Amino acid sequence: MIVRALLRLLALVAALALPAFGAAQSLQRVEPPSWWVGMQHPRLQLMVHGPRIAETTPALQHPGVRLVSTTRTANPNYLFIDLEIAPDATPGPVDLQFRRGETVLLRHAYPLQARAPGSAQRRGFGPQDAILNLMPDRFANGNPANDDAPGHPDRADRRNVSAGRHGGDLQGMERLLDYIVGLGYTMVWPTPLLENNQKAYSYHGYAATDLYKVDARFGSNEDYRRLVSTMRGKGLGMIQDIVLNHIGSEHWWLKDLPSPDWLTFGGRYVGTEHHRTAVMDPYATEEDRRNFTQGWFTPNMPDLNQRHPLLATYLIQHSIWWVEYAGLAGIRTDTYGYSDTAFLGEWSRRVMAEYPQLTIVGEEWSGNPLVVAYWLRERRNADGFVSHTPSMMDFPLHETMRRALVDDEQMFKGFRDLYAAMVNDLLYPEPQRMVYFEGNHDVPRIWSVLNEDLALWKMAMVHVATMPRTPQFYYGTEVLMTSPRQRDDGETRRGLPGGWAGDAVDVVSGRGLSAQQREAQAFLRRLLTWRKTQPALHGGRFTHYAPERGTYVYFRQDGQRAVMVAMNKAREAVTLEAGRFREAMGGRTAGTDVFSGQTVSLRERFTLPARSVTVLELH
Ligand code: CA
Repeated sequence: MIVRALLRLLALVAALALPAFGAAQSLQRVEPPSWWVGMQHPRLQLMVHGPRIAETTPALQHPGVRLVSTTRTANPNYLFIDLEIAPDATPGPVDLQFRRGETVLLRHAYPLQARAPGSAQRRGFGPQDAILNLMPDRFANGNPANDDAPGHPDRADRRNVSAGRHGGDLQGMERLLDYIVGLGYTMVWPTPLLENNQKAYSYHGYAATDLYKVDARFGSNEDYRRLVSTMRGKGLGMIQDIVLNHIGSEHWWLKDLPSPDWLTFGGRYVGTEHHRTAVMDPYATEEDRRNFTQGWFTPNMPDLNQRHPLLATYLIQHSIWWVEYAGLAGIRTDTYGYSDTAFLGEWSRRVMAEYPQLTIVGEEWSGNPLVVAYWLRERRNADGFVSHTPSMMDFPLHETMRRALVDDEQMFKGFRDLYAAMVNDLLYPEPQRMVYFEGNHDVPRIWSVLNEDLALWKMAMVHVATMPRTPQFYYGTEVLMTSPRQRDDGETRRGLPGGWAGDAVDVVSGRGLSAQQREAQAFLRRLLTWRKTQPALHGGRFTHYAPERGTYVYFRQDGQRAVMVAMNKAREAVTLEAGRFREAMGGRTAGTDVFSGQTVSLRERFTLPARSVTVLELH
């Protein structure tokens, strides 16, 4: 009601402010703000926003560009213009005119650009990569001058751990690029960078207020594009976190909605009950499906109605624009299943049609592999839903691993739990593309979950790095950052030590790190840099042996090289008969320990030290 009343008031003010002839005097926005010649999909739909712009008639004359149709909504301040762009259209500004009769009232030089060479063939991320997830506000502050920005009321306050902005930014990320590369990472997934000009609790980035603008407190769009380019030069790809499901309550649309049905439930807050299974459950009611996909996360995050064709096109073009503009290697899609199901099929189809080798990874926070697998391409779903998304976050394996490592070794617990979980790969068309993570910005830090046990922590790191998966780690894991064991977002998102001037501890120089932290940091660095050189881990066959006596042994091999991983959770050393592993060892009788460099004989039997993980290159 308040929104509607506000809209009426705004419309009245706008009407009074207009001259007598009532036509548009200025354009506030044209989105997407630019486009390219030579995209696979020949159509482009521009959203034009300006006072009573719908009362004008758009026109253009440009070689290879044709105005196909114009759509008007209930709001006279919007025009949607469909263009067709021929493959041989001339790059350069398109002179968009807005006319009344013969009079040109407004003009806009629309940037139509040539694509970067090879853009369509860009390669996404996959099992050869190691991904770093970081939270830009909490990672590193490279520029204290932008901690606050004019017109942004949520001011920096580093003392406020749970909800305050801490000042991290793109410059901070840039300053730590060599550290990131040195740890062995090849991809970076920052949580969203787009403007979140919310009044409070804006640091997390999932409440966008402008979908085409990097938040001023992180930097500018150009800064972002430059960072991605610098990263590429260092062998790092950028994965952008994209939210299709919702926006922030301070998004500029809310002040002048393009169409009343742009938001779900008519713009009224109805909370989602998070019943994600309702999407694919054959017994679910439409009522529950509607609540899941159309219910809002919070009153501060209005839910987008992607069944509206204009909004659907806006969101599809938005994702493609960022890939092309910034030079992305991939997309991480937030709150995946919460968006309209049919829309997700079309969105993933359109993005993958433009970039057939791009990687999209969706977040479906479920421990049930059936629910996660539903969203994968090549997956045959009972209800006929077809997706084009290559990858999902592997919440099922993540949750199993965290549970299995702390559980006692019993009949159906511990390593046996982890062993049995691999049968779920039957559900995944491309298991190695699933992103398997030890932690992220939403879950308690693994060091704390594993009761600060370094042996278990090493097993977790090795498991994530050596499964047939695309591995992902959370910033600060390498120095054993802590959090409460129950979810506590603020504590899980504390600043990286050394990310702020004056920090007593610095992960880069090692200043102030404990001996244990240094050991962990060196361990992960060795693991990930070694992993880069091991093709068997990037696509090799995985075989494993049922756990016994608190040990778990598995292999990766690609026909040329083989890697063996052996974990022992027992409090004493365990000696294993090599004969049992003959099938996987294929005549190899020794291995080189990846961490110590020592040669280990596997001829008859071998001994695993108490509470240890051993990684061997077999020969
Ligand atoms: Ca800053």
